[in-house]
Parts: sequence; structure tokens; C-alpha cells
Amino acid sequence: MEVIRDIEQYKNVLKSEIENDNLVIFPTETVYGIGANALSSNAVNKIFEVKTRARNNPLIIHLKSVNEIEKCAIIENKIEKKLIDTFMPGPITIVLKKKDCIPDSVTAGLDTVGVRVPINSIANRFLEIVDVPIAAPSANISSRPSGTKVSDIKKEFDDKVNYIIDGGESKIGLESTVVKVINNIPTILRPGFITKEMIEKVVGSCNVSPHVLKEVDSSSKVESPGMLYRHYAPSTKCLLIYSKDINLLKQEIKKHLTNKTIILGSNNLKDINCYKFINYGNSLESISHNLFSLLRLCDSYKADLIIIEGVDKVGLGLAIMNRLIRTSNFNYIEL
Ligand code: AMP
Ligand code: MG
Repeated sequence: MEVIRDIEQYKNVLKSEIENDNLVIFPTETVYGIGANALSSNAVNKIFEVKTRARNNPLIIHLKSVNEIEKCAIIENKIEKKLIDTFMPGPITIVLKKKDCIPDSVTAGLDTVGVRVPINSIANRFLEIVDVPIAAPSANISSRPSGTKVSDIKKEFDDKVNYIIDGGESKIGLESTVVKVINNIPTILRPGFITKEMIEKVVGSCNVSPHVLKEVDSSSKVESPGMLYRHYAPSTKCLLIYSKDINLLKQEIKKHLTNKTIILGSNNLKDINCYKFINYGNSLESISHNLFSLLRLCDSYKADLIIIEGVDKVGLGLAIMNRLIRTSNFNYIEL
């Protein structure tokens, strides 16, 4: 895999890679994406193969500007329009009725498509250069933490993808908020940096899918198939513990310590005696930024348990807990 640091120098290479149905990994403000021409089933199939992604988990398409949306999808109501006008470009995906040009392989046979216009300038330039919609999931093998750093991604895809565009560490670090307007109410299918509270301010109300914090059994109907799968997980076993009361939290953590436990949490926990303490940040923004890369780092210590400190499920905290609950495979204690 070659790392591209100056996108202008590689303009023609990138254009021809995408024209030839090859994959290109590119940065966005949320996480890195592994992208292919969304108009080519052949190219899109390669994403599923390389990631070992379940075929019924649809892909998000990335567009160079808001003006491109109506080439691929139909904006059916005022709420969708308002969400687009307010939050795009930005870290949000809106699920809209799809147009025929988007192949079924992108949408896993659904009649809707997730549309996103990133705000990261390198992503925007890449989308402008290739000048086609780019289908892109997060740059990680399925079930693993999403890629937010070139060095992490290179380890996973080195011999499988020709080019990665280096944009430094992903600013936000968690994937986009996925929203679908259902019966005229925006419903968050996957929480992210654009929060329920921010959406409510603009359109009055906003629901959160019950699957965001719950285990989904594969026979139930889900609006967001991505919630069905084991996700964001390091190889080491994880236990997620949350309490508003810091003393209660510490007591509970101590009950579960093994000889080789890593504690991944805020500085509140740094004095607990354990195999390794890793500070994940002391604000929701820094936890979100650091999380996926630190989960990979945790694996490198060959511990037998990672105890992760949970956060309050409001604002960006909802997105963090949505990921952490899956990271820990629903091994979760709340006191
Ligand atoms: P990733 O590609 O890893 O960022 O995951 C994309 C997320 O968006 C998954 O949770 C998908 O289920 C969800 N998604 C993409 N397209 C749609 C759609 N048309 N309807 C509902 N959810 C979608
Ligand atoms: Mg993903």
C-alpha cells in the first residue's frame, strides 16, 4: 500500500484507480473510509470482500457537494431538506429514497441509500477529483475498531489496497450520525457527533432507534442492519462499567480485576492498581477522538481483560456508549 501525502500529485492516479474499480482509502472528519465507485457493482463488491463485510449491511455514499444529492436520491419532505441544509456538509448521513443509478449492491437491496457529504477538505478534494459518488464504509476489517490513523489501517489492509491518502488522525474519531426520517420524525439509527439534542433544536423532535443501546436479535426487523453485527471490538475481552458515582465505579472495577487487566478510562481511575492504565481522555470529544486507536493499542499489551469506563449517554456520550457497548459485546454493568 502506498501512502499519498500530496493529493494533487496523485490526481491522475486516484482518478484511474477509481475508474478501474479499485479501492482507495481516504480520510474524513469522522473516520477513514475504504472507497469505491458507487455506480459500479464490481467495484462495490470488492469493498465487501476486502472487509469481509456482511452483504446485507448497506454502504454509505459520499458526495462532493450537497448539490449532487438529488442525482442519487430523492428528498421527499421538508424535514429531510432542513437536515441537509443545516448539517451538510458535515459528520451526518441521511437515509433517503434511492434513485435507480445506485446499484443494489450498495444498498443491500433496500430502496433507500445513506448519503453523506464530508466536510474534511482532503475528502472533498478526493471526491471532486474522481467525480463519481464513492461508496465507503469505515476502513477496518469487519467487527474490528474503525480506522482513524494511517499506521493502524496500513497493518490491516497493506497487501489488499493500493493507495491510502494520509489526512492525519481523524478529528472526530467516531463514524457519522445516521438519520432516517420515519413518519415525519428524524430517527437516529446510529448516533455520532451530530447529536439528538442538535437535531431537536432544528426540527423540534428526534427519536433514537431502540437498537442503539440494545442487542439486536437477527430475526427482528432493524432499520439499520449495521447494528446487527459484532463491532468495534479488539481481540482482548472487554468489560464496560458505568456509574455516575466515582467511588461506586472504582469499587466495582476492583471486583473484576485480574492479574493482567488494562483499565481504559479517565484520570479519575489512574490510582487503581492494575497491569496497565490508559487514559482515554477527559472530555467526550477527546474520548471520541482517541477511542478506536486506543482499543487497538490495548490489544498490543496482550492483557486478559480490558475494563472500560462508561460515560453518561447524553450528547456525544450516546455515540460513545453505542460503540462501547458493542466493543464489550454487551458485557456491561451500570450502577
Ligand atoms: P459503516 O459503513 O461501517 O460506517 O456503517 C454504515 C452504517 O450505515 C451501518 O450501520 C448501516 O447499516 C447504515 N446504513 C447505510 N445505508 C443504510 C440504509 N439505506 N438504511 C439504513 N441504514 C443504512
Ligand atoms: Mg464500520
